[in-house]
Amino acid sequence: MKRRYFFPSIDSCAAARQSWPVSGTDTPNIVVCGGGPAGLFAAEIAASLGAKVDLYEKMATPGRKLLVAGKGGLNLTHGGDREHFAKQYQGDDTPMGFWEDCLSEFDNQAIREWALGLGIETFKQRTGRVYPREMKAAGLLRRWIVRLKESGVTFYNRHTLIDFSEKDQVELYFSTPEGEKSITCDGAIFALGGASWPRTGSDGQWQNMLEKHQIGVRKMQSANCGWECEWSADLLAGAEGLPLKNVKAYANGIACLGELMITRYGLEGGIIYQLGHALRQMANPVLVVDLKPTFSIDQLRSKGRISNWNLSQAAHALLDWSLSHQEGCPAERTKQLPIPLLRPRPLAEAISTAGGVAWKSLETDLRIKQFRSIFCAGEMIDWEAPTGGYLLQGCLASAKRAAFAAMEAWNNRWSHEFSHHDLLVTDCRILANSVVFLSKNHGGNRCTPLPYQCRRTRLTTCLQGQTLPSSAKATTRGKLGRITTC
Ligand SMILES: Cc1cc2nc3c(=O)[nH]c(=O)nc-3n(C[C@H](O)[C@H](O)[C@H](O)COP(=O)(O)OP(=O)(O)OC[C@H]3O[C@@H](n4cnc5c(N)ncnc54)[C@H](O)[C@@H]3O)c2cc1C
Repeated sequence: MKRRYFFPSIDSCAAARQSWPVSGTDTPNIVVCGGGPAGLFAAEIAASLGAKVDLYEKMATPGRKLLVAGKGGLNLTHGGDREHFAKQYQGDDTPMGFWEDCLSEFDNQAIREWALGLGIETFKQRTGRVYPREMKAAGLLRRWIVRLKESGVTFYNRHTLIDFSEKDQVELYFSTPEGEKSITCDGAIFALGGASWPRTGSDGQWQNMLEKHQIGVRKMQSANCGWECEWSADLLAGAEGLPLKNVKAYANGIACLGELMITRYGLEGGIIYQLGHALRQMANPVLVVDLKPTFSIDQLRSKGRISNWNLSQAAHALLDWSLSHQEGCPAERTKQLPIPLLRPRPLAEAISTAGGVAWKSLETDLRIKQFRSIFCAGEMIDWEAPTGGYLLQGCLASAKRAAFAAMEAWNNRWSHEFSHHDLLVTDCRILANSVVFLSKNHGGNRCTPLPYQCRRTRLTTCLQGQTLPSSAKATTRGKLGRITTC
């Protein structure tokens, strides 16, 4: 059965937190490793849910890749509907319905509202792409970090996660300029990014660390990148740096409309980014281009000479190149022009990474299966999506899920402990449409706020401001407990 989450909004959680009398020892300490968009957002959500959050980043400052993304205008999300959105994400063994569910918890409207909350207005282009008005990431990142610090998130830069373990608590080991350091925490979220643009800190070095713990990692490969092919000197002389606009291309049975750019080493552009996944599935990758998608072969023939076909300079040069090494009919070749590709451009140049932490190693709430309280988020997981705003949207949505799950795991530790005991409720409130109560278990002396049990915990009689009647009952994780007020 598909698992559905009914999470309160960040605002309602923040409102609730202000009112919860959470004592120091009862506040979970959540550590986020990686200060890219996924890590920053996971930190924001965990802090808004009441956690004490520490964020560890290997570089001198967080968000370096986000700043690089800002150079292209920072395509925050896409305006497409949810069904269209979820179809953009690919990754072997992705749990069925994962992206539909995950994006329903944080969708393209939510990301725009979140940006607006930082004072960053967004606009939607005719293509559906959504950008901040200022077309940069610097302002957004600056305000985001200020807001995180104000909400209590502590940043530790120049800290590289090198290992981890879990007993009662999670133990994390870091390499720092002052030497190695270890810390303990109640839960950890790894948001260590992919392996493209390693100079931003996202170098995929974490792969060995995870594999040491038998966590599956699928080979990291270039995604949203150019592909190499062998052009002739004539082709380059006539078309290098020129676009092929409004063309259609096919790879492995998948079609895509858009633009390609002829470069010294091969091809760049939206079409080839989008078809990257399909091309990587082919033993001998070939891109087949239709230079005149709105004309049939007969229509082209009826126009007479090639000079009447209104081909762009790049299209003309490409057709000449193709006919020069393989004879054929120009009209047929214009409609079906094969370009054998050698390989994708190196990962260091790619916009994003395919591969990463294997879905088989993760629960749907993004917990690493063999650990109770360690989660993953963002691009380090084995998913890919084309450019167009889907990458950041996927990073933030997965970060939200991981942060909620980390908080839930912390709560469930206590519920596991007290589920065999009667609940001793010391206080009870209704906040943000949820019943929130503080309880003690009879077996121990811990007094724990149970905010997130609410959707599993139903008090039979409870009105705001009322003391719990001695007959009140609560179910926790399906188990019925007797509540005694004190
Ligand atoms: C040129 C370019 C343009 C792009 N444009 C867009 C765009 O317009 N729209 C879009 O949606 N996406 C875009 N992207 C992609 C987007 O930037 C990424 O998908 C996104 O940054 C991934 O977020 P993340 O938090 O998962 O990982 P990252 O942003 O890669 O962050 C991971 C962080 O973890 C840190 N880290 C790594 N290892 C360790 C460790 N062992 N210990 C501690 N810290 C560690 C890294 O230093 C890094 O700061 C672009 C990318 C590039 C390269």
